[in-house]
This record gives sequence, C-alpha cells and structure tokens, in this order.
Amino acid sequence: MSVMRKVLLWASTNAWLRERATRTHFVRISVRKFMPGEHIEDAITAAVALKPQGVNAIFTKLGENISQLSEAQDVYDHYIKVLSLIKGAGIDGEISIKPTQLGYDQDKEICFDYCMKILNACEAQNTLFWIDMEGSIYTQGTIDLFKRLRAHSTKVGIAIQAYMIRTDKDLDDLAALGSTIRMVKGAYLEPPTVAFAEKSKVDEQYYKNCARLLQDDANRPGALLHMGTHDTILQDRLLALIKERQIDKSRYEFAMLYGINTPRQLELARRGERIRCLVAYGEYWFPWYMRRLGERPANVWFVIKNIFKG
Ligand SMILES: Cc1cc2nc3c(=O)[nH]c(=O)nc-3n(C[C@H](O)[C@H](O)[C@H](O)COP(=O)(O)OP(=O)(O)OC[C@H]3O[C@@H](n4cnc5c(N)ncnc54)[C@H](O)[C@@H]3O)c2cc1C
Repeated sequence: MSVMRKVLLWASTNAWLRERATRTHFVRISVRKFMPGEHIEDAITAAVALKPQGVNAIFTKLGENISQLSEAQDVYDHYIKVLSLIKGAGIDGEISIKPTQLGYDQDKEICFDYCMKILNACEAQNTLFWIDMEGSIYTQGTIDLFKRLRAHSTKVGIAIQAYMIRTDKDLDDLAALGSTIRMVKGAYLEPPTVAFAEKSKVDEQYYKNCARLLQDDANRPGALLHMGTHDTILQDRLLALIKERQIDKSRYEFAMLYGINTPRQLELARRGERIRCLVAYGEYWFPWYMRRLGERPANVWFVIKNIFKG
C-alpha cells in the first residue's frame, strides 16, 4: 500500500481534520465529483438521469459509528423514506447501510431489529437491502448479522472484502447458504495480520473469490454476485470467465461508484450487462471521501487543482 494511501486512510478517521475540511470550500467543491449532492433528492435525480442509459442505482447515506442509539431511529426513518422515493421515481433502486449507522456499537439486538424492519420493507418493495462491510473489528459481527437476516429473506446482501485473509473461508460458508454477495477489494486501513497489503495479491484474491462465487455449487436459491470494482482489467477477466462458463446474466451484476469511470458504466450497460451505480449522499462525507482519494492518487491532484482554481 502506498504511503499516500496510508496517510489518506489515517486522515479518514481523524475527527479534527473532518471538522475543518467539511467547512472548507475547495474540499466541498471537490467532493462533488463523487457525490451529486448532500440530500437524498440529489441522489434520486442523479439516478433518474442514469436510468435511460441502462444503469440502475444503489443509495447510501454517508455516515458510520453513530454516537447515540437514538440516531439509529433517524437512520431507519430515513431509509423508509428513501424506499418510498425510489418507488415514486419509478427507478430500480436498492439501499446500502452500515451496521454502525443502525446502532451496532450500542446494542446489537436493537440493530438487528432495525435491520429486520428494513428488510421487510425491502421485501415488500421487491428490492435489496445491502449491508456494507466496515473495518475488520466488525467483520464477524456483520457476517453473523447477515446470516440471521438471510434466514428470513433472500432480499439481503452483504459486502465482502477480498483483501481480508479470512475471506476464502467466509465465502465457502456464505455460498452454501445461497447468498447475495457484493465482492469489493476493501477500503480500510488494516494490519497485515488480517488483510493482504500488496495490490497484486488483493487483485488475484478478488478474481479468485468472484470465480468461486460463479461456480456451479454457489448457484443456489438467493445467490447473486455483485462485482463492486472499477478495475476494468478484473472486469474483463471476469467477463471472459463468464463467457467461457456460459453463466447466465441473472447470476451476477456489476456495481461502481457514482462519478468514477462513468463511460465504463455506460459501456457495460450498452453491452447488455447489468450494472448499478452506488450513489452516496449526506453531510457526513469526509471519511468516505478520504477513502476515495486514497484509491487513486490522481484524485489528490484533482483536489489540489481546485485549491488553485478557487
Ligand atoms: C459498489 C461498491 C460498493 C462498495 N462497498 C464497500 C464496502 O461495503 N466496504 C468496503 O470496504 N469497500 C467498499 N467499496 C470500496 C472498495 O472496497 C474499494 O476500496 C474501491 O472500490 C476501490 O477499489 P477498486 O476495486 O475499484 O480497484 P482499484 O485497484 O482501487 O482501482 C482500479 C482502477 O479503478 C479506478 N479507480 C478506483 N477507485 C477510484 C476512485 N476513487 N477515483 C477514480 N478512479 C478510481 C482507477 O483507475 C484504478 O486504477 C465499494 C466499492 C463499490 C464500487
């Protein structure tokens, strides 16, 4: 992992920097590259514009580690509103939430109850409730939460990180259940005891993990693979594998973040692939934005250019 990425991942957890940066004009301007706006209505408008081009949506309100349990009720109320806005806009939209936004740190049972209520609402609307994966201290708990929810419905999905050393084993368990899985490389700063640090190793793990989920034994009721990556080399390698194994399109989808390589998102849609764009919004964007900057050094130059412009 590069020094720049390590610094940005460290910055993502620094409250002092968050406080100052979110009040700084050029940072606010720069973040617009990845975020259509701070309000759900901005995200819905962006998704409505993408729909005719064949790109569907996932909505996520930025935030993590709420400090009081009462905030979880607001998050729950918010996502119920999001589901009704999705319906009203006539778009194919899913939702994605971090357990620590729903009170996981404060009370795991209450968090589960909120998740169950959200899952029921998603089931009623025939859409998916995605559970984001956070730092490694949450991995086991998030998988346990997913399994409990999966016992009730197939309308729940979980993000799994290819950089985690434990992932090969986790996927065997999850594949046996028939799980909806979003494979991502992993966005947090983790020690080498739990996560692979070398990019080439993470890329290979990513390919191997997706290939594993596309095996016949993973093709069970409720199974779906989301390939959440902007890595076009990996996407092409996986598309070649899909072609070779003649895998049905109903078994997989691609997912990319709003504002990142939009031409590729549109190209995948034109080629008849199922593709979703994850649209993030909300006021608590600093940690998420630092993680995005860390993923591509060129993004840092984009911020620096804005400093001089503005
Ligand atoms: C839909 C979706 C959901 C996600 N959910 C989670 C989650 O729940 N938990 C989690 O830990 N992580 C999540 N992530 C983030 C993920 O773990 C990676 O940190 C992120 O996707 C970057 O890795 P990459 O696969 O795109 O590959 P990389 O090797 O980082 O990048 C491949 C290429 O894509 C381009 N690229 C990548 N990122 C950017 C960027 N920010 N700006 C511009 N270009 C870029 C670059 O050209 C780069 O060369 C999610 C990602 C996506 C797409």
